[in-house]
Amino acid sequence: MAPELVRGDETHPSTQTDLHSLAVLLFYLWMWHHPFHGEMEYRVRCWDLQAKKLIYGEKPVFIWDPQNTENRLPADPDYRTAKKRWQTMCPSSLRDLFTKAFTEGVEDPGRRVTEGEWQRLFLQLKDSVLPCPVCRASNLWDPHSAAQRCWHCIRSLPSPPRLEFNYSGKPKHYLVLTRGARLLHRHIDPHADEEHADQVLGEVVPHPSDPKLWGLRNLSKTPWVATAANQQVAEVPPSKAVSAVAGLRLTIGGITAELVN
Ligand SMILES: [Zn+2]
Repeated sequence: MAPELVRGDETHPSTQTDLHSLAVLLFYLWMWHHPFHGEMEYRVRCWDLQAKKLIYGEKPVFIWDPQNTENRLPADPDYRTAKKRWQTMCPSSLRDLFTKAFTEGVEDPGRRVTEGEWQRLFLQLKDSVLPCPVCRASNLWDPHSAAQRCWHCIRSLPSPPRLEFNYSGKPKHYLVLTRGARLLHRHIDPHADEEHADQVLGEVVPHPSDPKLWGLRNLSKTPWVATAANQQVAEVPPSKAVSAVAGLRLTIGGITAELVN
């Protein structure tokens, strides 16, 4: 429940109060913990209505508030899982959004994280899945992490090749290119409706004779235009593949994506 409702301020449940509840729910799913359960809640001896009102409404402090450190996680084994999940498994982009939701979003309901912001982030994370080359555990590749390690076997992860999409007026989006990764309609049109968003337009495929090489196969009904790093232009007809090498630019349905490594 949003802090203003817990306090009993003169307000009613609304989209804005729902956005706080949504952020708490997402935090639970990822951290298995409540964002306000730190030292302050740990010191409470009687978990009654008054205590809940204090922690959730009158003095809600995010356990990882960058400025206010009074509600950090206590050194108790019960709080270890949340710490581990935050520090070693949570991508930095998700940490940033949780921090926004539970600091400025708590102080000012008008600055809460919207559904659109969560959706954009989770679609980006879905497109960032990188299997560890050693143990095959699924990792979420993080462009802001200089030396990322596999969460499971702790070996360092190579920076993967990816297809970068630039949309006007929107943050950049990328698709990590691993074997079987699929180029979808939502990649070339971030406003696509749900019915068409997941329509497959292309797929990462291995080279027929050299397993070290791989390409992108056009699974759509219209040709793509491929521009190589040396500016050579070629058409990629439906069902054909183009070699995936750094610097390649693909024009698909009016949008140009670049292959970076
Ligand atoms: Zn691994």
